[in-house]
Order: sequence, then structure tokens, then C-alpha cells
Amino acid sequence: MIRADLLVTGIGELATLARGPLPRRGAAQGDLGLVFDAAVAVAGGVVVAAGPEREVRRAVTLAARGVHRSIDGGCVVPGFVDAHTHLLFAGDRHGEVEAKLRGASYGDIARRGGGLFATVRATRRAAAAELVDRAVDRLRRMALAGTTTAEVKSGYALTVPGERRLLDLIPEVARQSGLRLVPTYLGAHAVPPEYDGRADAWVRTLLSEIPRIAASGRARFCDIFVEPGFFSAGPARRILTAARSAGLGLKLHADEFSASGGAELAARLGARSADHLLRAPRSSYAGLARAGTVAVLLPVTPFASLSGTASPGRELVRAGVPVALGTDLSPNSWVESMTIVLAHAVYAARLSPAEALAAATVNAACAIGAEGEAGQIRPGRSADLAIFPVRHAVEIPYRIGLPPTAVYCRGRQVTPT
Ligand code: ZN
Repeated sequence: MIRADLLVTGIGELATLARGPLPRRGAAQGDLGLVFDAAVAVAGGVVVAAGPEREVRRAVTLAARGVHRSIDGGCVVPGFVDAHTHLLFAGDRHGEVEAKLRGASYGDIARRGGGLFATVRATRRAAAAELVDRAVDRLRRMALAGTTTAEVKSGYALTVPGERRLLDLIPEVARQSGLRLVPTYLGAHAVPPEYDGRADAWVRTLLSEIPRIAASGRARFCDIFVEPGFFSAGPARRILTAARSAGLGLKLHADEFSASGGAELAARLGARSADHLLRAPRSSYAGLARAGTVAVLLPVTPFASLSGTASPGRELVRAGVPVALGTDLSPNSWVESMTIVLAHAVYAARLSPAEALAAATVNAACAIGAEGEAGQIRPGRSADLAIFPVRHAVEIPYRIGLPPTAVYCRGRQVTPT
């Protein structure tokens, strides 16, 4: 008999996401690996049994001080994986909403020294303890909506020591929040104001910094904002090639505002993910599919940017590109809730509810190199569970912003009881 310290029973529908290839694509994108009338047993933070309740009960006994939770026909899904966040920042930009409503674009606001550069100024000034506190606060709210794993980018310091400082805060933020965080180096978020008119010099600085970041173990991925006015495809290729040689995984902010060659570059370099893709040409999809690059869609961002565009979820699934989801949490598009992202993934990006759930779990884990730890409920995997008060998992995106009743990360409850 296996001895469990947490036993969840009475699960009407358990979405294991445990069947099929990694990542999910095409017809498999919506396979939730459902088990009905199920139970999950956990020991030492790891799933030890997951399946039909009568089988789990036959195989498992509850330890003397173990917790038994019966959920009365609710559903359980893997804790959500938020594949794209700019979690570490100070200040806010609520004052820019009216400018956006009057038609100012992200680039317009940045060119006036606002937007991203306002956040850079606030983040550079902020004490480390303040940045940690704010990030932990945000993660607590993210966990309340079901998130147990998140990718976290640097990118709001835009100096060599400042970017290192941001990355160095991530382990402490992870410790205090109890969530799993995956760090990404985004020194190529923008050209810093000190390098105005000398973008080449900042690119050279990044090229010498990237091997040091990789060797220090501070980041697992290197990301770059490929867009006119930020980085064009040529410098982006040099930066990402250096990152790949140094052993970092590759991510791109690709084709958010214009078709700038980001998706093609991601495919050519075999990037782990290409993110946004709002303006990626249809002709780029086949290359992404061939390369196995995960399309990370951030469907709340076009909504909050008043851009009038929608993420091309349906088209990418049809083209055989694996699709994942993230919040893109930042002061521009301040969303912490993956359940709200799931609703946008369905009602704006036109994924089916099941496809959206796979995009927010198993495929998002693949997009950040966490597929061995997160995104599935199966024996041997971390016990990251989100329990929802609905009969069917596909009701989660349908019931816009529905909060879970409980969330566990590594078998520990991370939301209030
Ligand atoms: Zn982003």
C-alpha cells in the first residue's frame, strides 16, 4: 500500500493532461486526459496515484496525520502555468489608460518617455525588498486564480547590473510565494534611454553579457522584443545565436504590432517559444510547426492595448503549431488571473475550452521548459492541483474569471482554506 499525506476524492472530472505527445498540437491540442469519478493521492509533494477513485482507494492508505479532502463532484485540473510574465516591476501606469483611449499606441507612449520607460525609471529606483514584496503580492493573487508555475522576465532595469539584480530576486520571490518560477533574461526588452541613437552599442553590451548570465545560472531563457523601434531581426538573430551558444533556451516577443520577421526567426533558430504573434504572417505558421516552436498567446494584451486585434489561436491550431497561454502581466496589460486569460483564449482567440485548458497547462509548461515538473497530473509529477467548483473542466473558461476553491503547489495548499 502507498501511504499518502493528501487524498482528494469525489472528483467528478479529473483533467490529467497526461496522455499524448509533448507539446500538444492539432487534434491533440484539446485532449484533456479526462478521468471520471476520480481521486488523486499525494505524498511528499508528489502525485502517487491519480485515476478512478475505487482504484486509488485500493492502492493508497492515508497517513495518520494526512488530509482527506472530498470535493463533491467538482473538477480538478493541473495548476496553471503562466508562460509569459513581466512580474518584476515597480509603479503602475493607470494614468496612460486615457491616452490609450485617445488612440496613443504602445510605441507612441514609449517615445514620449512614458510606457515601458516610466516603468524602467520606477524599477531602477525601487529597493530590492519593495520589488520582492510587490512580486510576491502579485503571485498570491495569481495563485488565487489557479496559477502554480510562472515564467518571470527581467527587462525593466536595462542596465547590466540592474538586470542581474532583477534576476537575483527571483529565487527569493519563489521561496516566499511557494510557487515555481522560471527565470528569463530580457535585457533586450528595449534600447535603454542612455543608449538612445546608439542601439548597436547596447547590442554589443548584451552580446558580452549573455554568456555571463548563462554561466551564472541566473536565467534559463533569453528573450528579445523584435519590433520596429526596438530590435530588428538582424540584431535579434545575433543576440539569440549568442544565447543559444551559451546554453540558454530562446524566446521571442514576435510580431505583436507589425510583421517584423519574429516568427520566421523563431522557427529558423528552433526557439522554444514565439510569443504574441498578433501580426505574424500566415506563411510563418508552417515553419513554427516544423520547428516545434510553441506559440505563446497572450490574448488579454490586445484587449488591454485597445488594438482591435485578436490572437490567432484557431489558425495556429489548424496549422499544427502547439499553442500555450500566458498573462503577459505588466503595467501595460495588468492581468494576474489565468482564468481570465482562458476566457479570452476562447472568446477572442477562438480556441475550444479544452484546447485553452491544454494551452494553460501542459503546453505552457513545454513553452518554459517545465514539462518534466508541471502541467500534468500523473504519478511522479509535482502535486500542482487546482480544484474548481464545476462539474466539467471545460466550464472553467466558460465561467469567465471563476476562482478555484483550492490550489496546491507541490502538495502544499497555496491559497487560503
Ligand atoms: Zn511580454
